[in-house]
Amino acid sequence: MKRAAVVGGSLTGLATGILLRKIGWEVDIFERSAQSLSDRGAGIVMQQETLELLRLCGAKGDGDVGVMLTYRKSLDANGSVVSSDRMPQLMTSWGLLYSWFKQSFPAEDYHLGHEFDSMRQGGSSVTAHFKGGMEIKADLLVAADGFRSSIRSLLLPEIQPEYAGYVAWRGVVPESDLSADVLKVFEDNFTFFRMAESHILCYLIPSETGNTDVGQRRLNWVWYWNLSEAELDPLLTDASGVRRGYAVPPGTLHPEQESKQRKIAERVLPPAFKELLRATKEPFVQAIMDLACPQLVFNRAILMGDASFVIRPHTAASTSKGIANAFTLVGELAGRQELSESLDHWQRSELNRGQRLMSYGQGLGRSQGR
Ligand SMILES: Cc1cc2nc3c(=O)[nH]c(=O)nc-3n(C[C@H](O)[C@H](O)[C@H](O)COP(=O)(O)OP(=O)(O)OC[C@H]3O[C@@H](n4cnc5c(N)ncnc54)[C@H](O)[C@@H]3O)c2cc1C
Repeated sequence: MKRAAVVGGSLTGLATGILLRKIGWEVDIFERSAQSLSDRGAGIVMQQETLELLRLCGAKGDGDVGVMLTYRKSLDANGSVVSSDRMPQLMTSWGLLYSWFKQSFPAEDYHLGHEFDSMRQGGSSVTAHFKGGMEIKADLLVAADGFRSSIRSLLLPEIQPEYAGYVAWRGVVPESDLSADVLKVFEDNFTFFRMAESHILCYLIPSETGNTDVGQRRLNWVWYWNLSEAELDPLLTDASGVRRGYAVPPGTLHPEQESKQRKIAERVLPPAFKELLRATKEPFVQAIMDLACPQLVFNRAILMGDASFVIRPHTAASTSKGIANAFTLVGELAGRQELSESLDHWQRSELNRGQRLMSYGQGLGRSQGR
């Protein structure tokens, strides 16, 4: 039996663990956080690979995993509908995916409070060392440790995320906090408002506990905003004066920064979006970054998910890319005898996928004035 050590217990790490077990591998997942990861307040547009994995985890109908919206709609500054097209789309949330994936992986092999520290490669094995002294020897070390991957920084120290020149302001509002008139605007729609060099969008997502019943859902909005690198510094400095890496989580924004953006909202957004922002108790912000690795396989260590490529959110594909990385990996491993040959094939296809999505996201950013 082959053994994998997966570093990072978020969506890519869990997807990899679940799928490797299905082809008979023994898998341990090591997550730095001491507590089970919590909902990041993020809505996620459902993509094919994500849905496929949810089905493997036992999800049945669409209602188990998301909110189905029928139309894609654009508003003008007064709130009038500029266009409305039938484009059914299932919307889900980070928290819902995490809870499905987590319950589909054995709890005894999911190790919280384990922070990767270093590794040693042998000819056909790799040994990972964790802070506190624990080590594990495996046939494969999977780096699913995200955008600021410590494994990537050991293997490719020259590869650093680059700021794309704009940020995403975000927020989530329970539908029960909004008036019937505002809800009517967003109900059954993926709604957009485009303005000069910016746009905001909104869609319904499941509740924090994954409930998709009417009355229990939440509205998730994302507002892209150009910002120079100099302006980024104060924005990413939180209420307690700490300069965050690239995102300021809900409840920790500096009040001055929050109120500045809220004033802009009052000036430029259509009425329903204004109401949505007013009802948002804890908006948050993340800088949009680009990152692409030229190599994913380093003997018995591989880079996956956000550790390998950071894809712009306009593609709505970062989560599904990590899951696709895992599907392709198990497809290659199941189909060949030689591990290094499988990894070579996998690398070729996943470099291609990453580069393709990266350019697509940058193109979408440019075409929307970002
Ligand atoms: C604020 C925010 C909003 C997002 N919104 C969307 C969205 O709307 N749509 C979408 O598709 N995607 C979104 N994403 C991206 C999406 O969450 C990721 O693409 C997806 O979770 C897959 O990422 P990942 O598992 O590769 O990495 P991550 O989710 O970043 O997970 C990496 C994990 O590795 C752990 N880790 C890090 N270092 C170590 C270490 N040394 N040892 C052990 N563990 C370690 C971290 O604690 C973390 O749990 C968002 C991400 C963020 C942060």
